[in-house]
Amino acid sequence: MKFTATIPSVSPEEVEDRIKAYRRLGFENRSPAVIVYPATQHPCPWPDCGIIITAIDFQLSKMGDDSQREKWLGAWWQGSGLVARCPGCRRYVLYGYEDKHTVDNLARVADAVLPDDWEKTARIALRPT
Ligand SMILES: [Zn+2]
Repeated sequence: MKFTATIPSVSPEEVEDRIKAYRRLGFENRSPAVIVYPATQHPCPWPDCGIIITAIDFQLSKMGDDSQREKWLGAWWQGSGLVARCPGCRRYVLYGYEDKHTVDNLARVADAVLPDDWEKTARIALRPT
């Protein structure tokens, strides 16, 4: 007897809709900001840094006050991500939901900026270089 597995196909639109729903519910439930990056997003986006972060549990509940946490959760779940200094090069990085970017204009992301010592509170998975 031969068995065949049928894996239901899901359209890209359906995947996008599910991610949107997940993020909406994440914000509504004030879920913790936790991310595991794909391998292509592990290195710091700044040139000549070399630090490799594979995952972050931001531990926002242990930082700032209520109004700051509300802004940070909004930036994480509904915006483009959280901005913090790289633990290696100390330059600002946008730690996004899917990727990381360099940040050189803090005015545009003011509600997303974490304290300078964020890495003392957050749990950061570093990969040795
Ligand atoms: Zn860096």
